[in-house]
Amino acid sequence: MSRYAEVIVPLGLNATFTYIIPPGLTDSISVGSRVIVPFGKSKFYTAIVTAFPLKAPDNVEPKEISAVLDPSPIVRHPQLKLWNWIADYYLAAIGDVYRAAVPSGLKIESETSVMLDPSFDFTDSDNYTKLEIEVLQHIDHEKSMSVSSLEKNLGRNNLTPVINRLIERGAVSVSEKLVERYCARKETFVTLAMPVDAAFEKLKKSRAGTTLLQGYLQISELLRRPGNPSEVTRQQLAERTGIATAHIRELERKGVFALTERSVNRFNFSGISDGKLPVLSEKQADALDQIHKSWLSHDVTLLHGVTSSGKTEIYIHLIDFVLKSGRRAFYLVPEIALTTQLTERLQNVFGDRVLIYHSKFSDNERVDIWKKLLDTSAPCVVIGARSAVFLPFGNLGLVIVDEEHESSYKQSDPAPRYNARDVAVVLASLHGAKTLLGSATPSIETNYKALSGKFGHVRLMTRYNDAKLPTIEITDLKQARDNREYRAPFALSTIRAANLALNGGNQVIFFQNRRGFAPIARCTACSWSPRCEFCDVAMTYHKSTRQLVCHYCGATHTLPTVCPQCHEPKIEIYGFGTERIEDIVSSTFEKRKVLRMDLDTTRNKEGHARIISDFSSKKADILVGTQMVTKGLDFDGVSVVGVLNADTMINIPDFRSAERSFNMLEQVSGRAGRRSDVDGKVIIQTHDPSHPVLKFVAKHDYDGFYAHELEERRTFSYPPFTRIINIYLKHRDLQTVKTVSDLYASNLRDLLGRRVNGPEEPIVSRIQSLYIRKLMLKIETGASMTKVKELLRDLNARLCESYPEVKRTLIYYDVDPV
Ligand code: ADP
Ligand code: ZN
Ligand code: ZN
Repeated sequence: MSRYAEVIVPLGLNATFTYIIPPGLTDSISVGSRVIVPFGKSKFYTAIVTAFPLKAPDNVEPKEISAVLDPSPIVRHPQLKLWNWIADYYLAAIGDVYRAAVPSGLKIESETSVMLDPSFDFTDSDNYTKLEIEVLQHIDHEKSMSVSSLEKNLGRNNLTPVINRLIERGAVSVSEKLVERYCARKETFVTLAMPVDAAFEKLKKSRAGTTLLQGYLQISELLRRPGNPSEVTRQQLAERTGIATAHIRELERKGVFALTERSVNRFNFSGISDGKLPVLSEKQADALDQIHKSWLSHDVTLLHGVTSSGKTEIYIHLIDFVLKSGRRAFYLVPEIALTTQLTERLQNVFGDRVLIYHSKFSDNERVDIWKKLLDTSAPCVVIGARSAVFLPFGNLGLVIVDEEHESSYKQSDPAPRYNARDVAVVLASLHGAKTLLGSATPSIETNYKALSGKFGHVRLMTRYNDAKLPTIEITDLKQARDNREYRAPFALSTIRAANLALNGGNQVIFFQNRRGFAPIARCTACSWSPRCEFCDVAMTYHKSTRQLVCHYCGATHTLPTVCPQCHEPKIEIYGFGTERIEDIVSSTFEKRKVLRMDLDTTRNKEGHARIISDFSSKKADILVGTQMVTKGLDFDGVSVVGVLNADTMINIPDFRSAERSFNMLEQVSGRAGRRSDVDGKVIIQTHDPSHPVLKFVAKHDYDGFYAHELEERRTFSYPPFTRIINIYLKHRDLQTVKTVSDLYASNLRDLLGRRVNGPEEPIVSRIQSLYIRKLMLKIETGASMTKVKELLRDLNARLCESYPEVKRTLIYYDVDPV
């Protein structure tokens, strides 16, 4: 048995480190176990064991592992392989991959803040050791403490293993920035407190009482099915009977019901699942059949299905198939918002076999799921956003990537800068699982692979129930203005169309791709305009907080009433963000109820869910939102969708801008007319009605757009004909970043010639006080990316050695940028 363990530490370092295994612990440690290791002068980290080398590398004096946290691995085959793939492919540090992959509750370090879990109770203290109690009291006293200050206060070294035990037992939790603290969800359960006939007898004079009793019996009957927990919640009862919960309390007083309140695990589904699969239409069944056939020869298959064709129903059948064969399924979605609607749809069929995972979950919840997946190998389906690709899946049989074209699958900051879609494909292949990529507007790369036979290809080009695709109307804003048919930001025809829909009892969505109130503030006397002091951008005015906000760094300022430059009180605001649109819509459509969905209204965890459910249940008539409203949501009452300004999208100078605009407009229009009895209409307002992208959108002509775009890509050597690596260089000093990027460019040109483009100054050329330059490498498809990446790593090492200013420059790569 080896005396050494090689580990990954959670730091941005692309290396593993060797430690001595303390005698006596060799049997309780395995590859994938967590260990606590000292690192640097006085820090301790939770590291992951990757191997047991026979000897330590020369010229290092290995330190000893402080503690082994897991007898059995928490990271298992083939996760470590996936981590290595990500580090190699995206030129990322393995330590960064580990950091992104494992929830922070599983990797506490000296600086992590720890607090008592709300559910912890000191009266249970018999179950804890003296030291643990001491730690708990300290934390309780300070509310929240970092591990290192705890150690200082208690005069002890290395409390990390103690804290870890307390986390595992739910006594403490670690803090997460941005995310609200864990708070157990409480639910009231109803049980019958007397025999059924006695209860009916007692309630025979009360209509509401009898209805409640009947409702209770019906639900508990339904719940008695296998796989369902057999308790009725007060909410279920109130929803089913439509009787206020106060009446339920009343029956408790009468001794008919007993009510108990308990915290529930969010992952224990307590709804009613009927276990029934949706019946597929003939076309859907045919597509399903083709997918199964396609998988015989292609592990990855594209399902190109127009919006509202019923892709989700097909996914449900595929998931059912995999679960029945005893394996697990992973359903990746681009937006947290989408998990809400999907969870419901999937739970109706699969009950508590549905697990959800995304970054807005608290750490406790994330650790819960992680452990649940490790503990058993029971079949289940995991719905998750980007970071779910890192879960310890075992026994995986199917990966579904919905809306595979979505750019939000790409993490652009911080490292690792990975594309969750592509990682999911690799994940599936490591497990020998099949992958289905679904989209109404496949990305150019994916469609290219499907057409060239690398991926399987199945198409479903009609909507469910033969609902028509919405008609698209391109509205020329210039003309509207010339004809005095304009009231900013609306062409009057848009207002008329919306009113027609609303009067007919339908709902309307307005899409504006900019949050805040107004994007521009300017002095009308001298043209002064407030800009962020740390970034090279104008600040956006937010009315709700009466502040100017930088959308790049979050810096805020108050809006001056007097111009700081010419001292005239002439500051005005221009342009329209969702906040302002909401105001205007509320006054234009006076009697209508308006909801807004954007980053600002969905910051807390339940934000999305509430807006989506309010709009679905028609508690509002109009929804105003940013791109969040475009992605795959299923609202059946919407007949008109208005895109208030398509120009901001189509005019972005980037090779993907046409593709992104086409996708987004087509997806937005996919929200309209999803039911067969409502004709959907999409209004696109623009100053450039003859733009080619709009022409294709107007005819829902994906194939035409694809052919057109592919030629552009071929002409200008962009993906799928090349692969792109962007190199970003950042420094506080403008001259330094210029010098270093020129140096880099000329060295790269010696090696790669004309594949090197730049350095260029990005549109936003300074963010958070760092000046930015960008180099773009276009590597022809088919060339060895491994070689190119090796060369980049070597060059970086060489330049860092010879030039101190290179070492001080922040340099990183973005592979396959979107
Ligand atoms: P997509 O994911 O392709 O946009 P959805 O799966 O959301 O489409 O389906 C669109 C709408 O049609 C949904 O409201 C869905 O419930 C309904 N639908 C689709 N297929 C069926 C089916 N086989 N049976 C019942 N309803 C269906
Ligand atoms: Zn001025
Ligand atoms: Zn800023």
